[in-house]
Amino acid sequence: MGNCAIVGINWGDEGKGRMVDLLTESYDIVIRYQGGGNAGHTVINEYGKFALHLLPSGIFRKGVVNILGNGVALDPENLWKEIEEVTAKGVPITPENLKISDRASLLLPWHRELDGLEEARLADKKYGSTKQGIAPFYSDKYQKKTIMAGELLYPEHLTEHLADLLGWKNLTLAGVYGAEPVKVAELREWIDTYCEKIKPFICDTGAFLRKAQADGKDILFEAQLGALRDLDYGIYPYTTSSNSIASYAPVGSGLPSAKIDEVIGVVKAYSTCVGEGPFVCELYGSEADALREAGFEYGAKTGRPRRVGPIDIVATRYGVQVQAATNIALTKLDVLSFMDKIPVCTHYTVGGKETDEFPFPSVLDSAKPVIEYMDGWKCDISGIRKWEDLPVAAQRYVEFIEKEIGCHVGFISVGPERDSIIIR
Ligand code: GDP
Repeated sequence: MGNCAIVGINWGDEGKGRMVDLLTESYDIVIRYQGGGNAGHTVINEYGKFALHLLPSGIFRKGVVNILGNGVALDPENLWKEIEEVTAKGVPITPENLKISDRASLLLPWHRELDGLEEARLADKKYGSTKQGIAPFYSDKYQKKTIMAGELLYPEHLTEHLADLLGWKNLTLAGVYGAEPVKVAELREWIDTYCEKIKPFICDTGAFLRKAQADGKDILFEAQLGALRDLDYGIYPYTTSSNSIASYAPVGSGLPSAKIDEVIGVVKAYSTCVGEGPFVCELYGSEADALREAGFEYGAKTGRPRRVGPIDIVATRYGVQVQAATNIALTKLDVLSFMDKIPVCTHYTVGGKETDEFPFPSVLDSAKPVIEYMDGWKCDISGIRKWEDLPVAAQRYVEFIEKEIGCHVGFISVGPERDSIIIR
């Protein structure tokens, strides 16, 4: 098996969670290496339906060790709530199957508050943040102004460090935004309520992983969001504040020496984008409503209706390239079954010229999609499990995408359940 990263090729919400849930059967360890609780990975299995925000999607598999790596935005409050929700449905979560890196930095209550304050200040120029504190968290991490989970294990050191941080952060909260300064007692209460709960899971995951690597364990790296939301390679500034691409996985996981043998890029059979920012192939009106309803495209975290469009070959090819994908999982093909003709965005025009290159972010607003139509199949494909049983029009659609993006489509998912999959 070796090491495998499961990553999003587009704007996120491609169905990564269901792919990790499916493939964890063959892996020993699943690691979340970046991002926080600002997106949701939907997983449907024998325990029920879950929208996982921070927990790795391997949490349902017996014998699999799940790790929150040093690259994640560790929000103890939401993580604890999530652990309670998931365990309430009968899934055991113990320090044996969940380990939190002592080097993961903590998302503190003021990060959420600052996110809301800044979005309010931006008003109609807002980024469309989910207000989970992710951007303020990563800014502080890189300024070295937050604390690492491991510090919770050293209380005296922690008290002093928190007091220093608080003095600094209140300058921004009160001085810049005119908000109430945070008091030491409030912060202490928060630490005692939530951080104490997650303490038993915190350990030196780097040492654990180095041993696992030496023992030849198979590791799955789980990304949050997609290539187009990557801080450096995405549609900046409408990106997230961390690197979602596969090449960051070794760094953010705690195993910088890891070699990734396979990168499974998850691509949705059409496009969706949640929040603000350029979205070249966006559909509007009744066409958009029909696709949104068919795919039930509402945010897992916020319930916001997602923007929808046809598959965008230009953006997808770029996503495949920056992810260095070696295999593609094409999800939600069943959703397109209602269409007579299936639109595909094959190129962009920029400044009157056709292009196949994904443009620089500032140019995206002026890019126009070139749409072609492919034959639909107009029948229910959700029960199909073999490639040869798919209608010819559906096969043509998959083959067209595969050829255009330059990567083999090895998985086709035709429903949200674990076994609704065609392996090719
Ligand atoms: P993630 O963040 O990339 O894991 O994606 P989300 O969980 O936000 O969104 C994927 C949504 O599509 C979830 O509601 C899944 O249950 C659902 N889903 C995944 N694969 C399929 C599929 O093949 N068909 C259908 N109809 N739904 C799917």
